[in-house]
Order: sequence, then structure tokens, then C-alpha cells
Amino acid sequence: MPIENFDVIYKENRCVIKDIEKVVSKLESILGEKNVSTRDIDKIAYSKDTTLITLNWALQGKLAGVPDIITWPETAEQISQILKLANEEKIPVTPFAEGSGVVGGAIPIFGGIIVDMKKFNKVLEIKDKDLTVTVQAGINGMNLERYLNSKGYTCGHIPQSIYTSSVGGYIAHRAAGQFSTKYGKIEDIVLGMEIVLPQGDIINFKTIARASTGPQFDKFFIGGEGTLGIVTQATLKIWPYPEKRALISYAFPTMEDSLDATREILRNQIYPAVIRIYDKEETKRHFEDTKNAKGKVMVVFVCEGISKLVDLEEEITREVCEKNSGVDCGEHPVEHWFETRFRVKETSMFPPYKIVADTIEVACMWDKAAELYHKVKEATKSIYGNLLISAHISHFYPNGVGYYFTFGGVPPKNKSDFEFYKECWNATIKAVEELGGSFGHHHGVGINRSHWMPIEWGNSFETLKSIKKMLDPNNILNPGKIYESIWKEEGGGN
Ligand SMILES: Cc1cc2nc3c(=O)[nH]c(=O)nc-3n(C[C@H](O)[C@H](O)[C@H](O)COP(=O)(O)OP(=O)(O)OC[C@H]3O[C@@H](n4cnc5c(N)ncnc54)[C@H](O)[C@@H]3O)c2cc1C
Repeated sequence: MPIENFDVIYKENRCVIKDIEKVVSKLESILGEKNVSTRDIDKIAYSKDTTLITLNWALQGKLAGVPDIITWPETAEQISQILKLANEEKIPVTPFAEGSGVVGGAIPIFGGIIVDMKKFNKVLEIKDKDLTVTVQAGINGMNLERYLNSKGYTCGHIPQSIYTSSVGGYIAHRAAGQFSTKYGKIEDIVLGMEIVLPQGDIINFKTIARASTGPQFDKFFIGGEGTLGIVTQATLKIWPYPEKRALISYAFPTMEDSLDATREILRNQIYPAVIRIYDKEETKRHFEDTKNAKGKVMVVFVCEGISKLVDLEEEITREVCEKNSGVDCGEHPVEHWFETRFRVKETSMFPPYKIVADTIEVACMWDKAAELYHKVKEATKSIYGNLLISAHISHFYPNGVGYYFTFGGVPPKNKSDFEFYKECWNATIKAVEELGGSFGHHHGVGINRSHWMPIEWGNSFETLKSIKKMLDPNNILNPGKIYESIWKEEGGGN
């Protein structure tokens, strides 16, 4: 079926390329013929990311957003030329890495040109003394980690999507891996970057352990979601592969007990690489065969590093858990987590049954951590059609936590999938904002959350928008995300 016959969800703001043949021919002269496509099959492939509602749409034969031209550059200079051409012709450009984003960041809602980063896939240099690796930004996370492991290192950035995501995508969405309590989030890991700015200038932030040379401008681009520039190269921290791992699990009577225990562990300056609290629903779903966890809240820990330190961390972690009514559940639940940690079938099983589901990660300070859990559950449960709302906490700081909620339900007859989906999203974010939390912990803003930006950022949002305008006066790079809203009628107001 020709692409024109597909129903497209985000079509209102589509650009019109006046002379597409001329643009394609210019792109071919920059990239070579084989690196430019206008074929329908490619347009379909780049019409969605992994936002769950787009899977519901795909099963109904609908596309989220359709690009006009797909490109596969291999050098920063080529990207620079694409962006210069796009500025001349006023054509939107959407960077696309592996499409594992879950907030619509890579969906080309304005059409235009896709810049696929998959050819930026090389490890350039490991420096053992400095503990750094320099890579091209399109490199797949698992390919990088396996390469590092083979040389005796780890990057410590292990998101659940590691098989299907890239370093550039992590930087764009301010990602966080499962081992982040020890190794940090991507903004702690990136030491240097090469970026192509929206108008085509190529800038470099040199690799340095720390500097006091003006504002931390490099960090400003982390979280840019492809709107402030295209990251082509990055230097990341690495670590010697851990000598020992301790696998620990405890079950607690309530969410509050588990929060108290984990908070105390961090106050003692013990940073297990992994801490995960599962509420009672998720404990039942994931650890059904663990007798000591029946009707309880499971917490799994992984301490890793050199043996002596791991032993001490394990001892203190156990002491604090037991003091806070924790019951030892042994190594098995953690082994089970290791075995299943990259399995992602759970949520994608829902759409074929016409269930609308998604996950929403948010953050808050410790003083609101228990209240936020109950408020979000209440808010989502009150939506007619909701069947499921559960949570785990997988990111911890001495000052607060990152929650990960999963919701699912069947839209009532008077509501479309999309209306129901937006209602669930907005109810969660409203509850979080009312408690002073943050609407996104590590998945970014994309389409799903941009209408809440004025509330999340307050009056500093105008300053952010001015900087975007200065860097990208023609609004070429990834329009419709972060600074403007396609969902504007629904929530935070824009
Ligand atoms: C099952 C599953 C599990 C997940 N688990 C985690 C997790 O544990 N932790 C986590 O943080 N996230 C997780 N995610 C979300 C997702 O993997 C991340 O957001 C990831 O960072 C996206 O990377 P990507 O390479 O697929 O980027 P894409 O989805 O292709 O793009 C994401 C955004 O980045 C922009 N972009 C891509 N490359 C560049 C570049 N080089 N320069 C500038 N902009 C660019 C795009 O325009 C888009 O806005 C998960 C997703 C799924 C589906």
C-alpha cells in the first residue's frame, strides 16, 4: 500500500518540501546515492520510536509521523552540510539513533529529513591511565559494553534497552542505567563531546577531568534531545571490570520500610551499584516463587568492585535492612533479576489485546518519596478504564529517588486510545508536579511531556527557549519537542 494511504497521527504540522528532487540530489552529492532514501519502506521504518502507544497505532495500520527523506551520514562534516542545506531550504531535521526512545523524541512529526546515526559506530580510543573511552556517538550500547568487557573494563552505563540504544541517544535523553547508583547517570559519565550545531558549525568540548573555565556549557547539551545539536563523538568514563559482586535481597512489610532502609544505606555513603525496590504488585509479578517475599515489598541490591570494599558494603547493607524490618531472601531473586533484566516483552504484550499501557519515570526528593507513590497510584486508578498501576524504584541518590510507574487499561467506549493514554500520562505528571517532583527521571521530554515544560521549569523555561532560538533560528532541529507542544490542550498549558 502506498504510504499516502496510511493514516498518520502527527500530520498537522508537516512541512512541504517544494522541490524534493532538487533536495534529494543535493543530499546525494553530499552523502552518495546509497546513503539517501525516499523509499516508502524506509519512511515507514522511521515513522515511530518505541513509545508504546505507537505500537497500538501500528497494529491499527496507523503511522505516528512520516519523514520525507532518510539519510545515513558517516562524518560530522556531512552532517554539517545536511544542516546547512536544511537551513537554506527550511526543512526540519530529526536525528534518529536506534529508536528505543519512549517519549516520541525521534518521531519526525514535522516530516523532513531523518539523520540516522547508525554509521557512527566505532570505538576510537581507550586510554587506560585516564580511564576513558572515545566513541562515535551512534555506537550501540551493548556493542560498546561487550568491547570494553573484553578489554577488562566496564562503562557502568547499562540501561534495560542496552541492546537497542546508542551513546548519542543516552546523551540526548539524559539516560540512566541500571547500575547508576554507583557509576552515575550519563551526565556523570560524559567527559568530552563533538557536536554539530543546528546551523552546521562543528564544536568540540575537550576531555578534561574538571575545569573552572566559565559555565559548564558542555553539560547544557546533555538532554538536548536532538534539538540543540547532533552529537557525533563522545569521551566517556570507564572502570576496571569489578573483581567481586555481592547479590543481596530483602523483603519489607511496606513501601515506607523499604524507603527508610535504602535512604539510610545511602546516608551511610554506601552506594550499591544496583538498588531496586518493587512495590507489592511488582513483587508478586516478578518474585512469585520467593516465599519470604509473599505480600511484601522486595528490594534487590548488587554491590560490586574490589572484594574488600564489597564485603564491607554488603555487611552495612544487611545491617540496615535488618534494622528496618527486612527479611533476607537470599541470592536467588537477584540472580533472577540478572537473568531477566533485558527482557522487555512485558509491556509490549498489551497492545495486541487492545490494552493501552505505558511506563512513566519520575523523580522526587526523599521527604515526598512515600507520598508520591500513593498519590500517583490514586490519581491513575481514578481514571475510568484503568486496570493496572504499579511501581518500582530503580535510581537512588542521597537526596531523592527515581520512580518507574507502569499503567495499563482499556479505554472506555467514548474515548480513543490516544485520549485515554494522554489522560493517564497527565494524571501521573499532575500528581508529581503538585508534590514538587520532576516529571521525568531518565526518558526525556519528547512529545509526551513538552506541554508540562512551563510548569516543570518555571520562569527559566523562557531563557531556555531563547537559547534554542539563538542556536536554531529557523527551528530546523527536531521541531515539536521540548519547547513547543503537540499535546498542548491536555495538561500543563503552553
Ligand atoms: C524496553 C526499554 C527499556 C529502556 N530502558 C531504559 C533505561 O534503563 N534507562 C534509560 O535511560 N532509558 C531506557 N529506555 C529508553 C531509551 O532506550 C533511551 O531513551 C535511550 O537513551 C534512547 O537511545 P536511542 O539511541 O534509541 O535514541 P533514539 O530513540 O533514536 O532517539 C532519542 C532522542 O535522541 C535524539 N538523538 C539520537 N541520537 C542523537 C545524537 N547523536 N545527537 C543528538 N540527538 C540524538 C533523537 O532525535 C531523539 O530525540 C528504555 C526503552 C525501552 C524501549
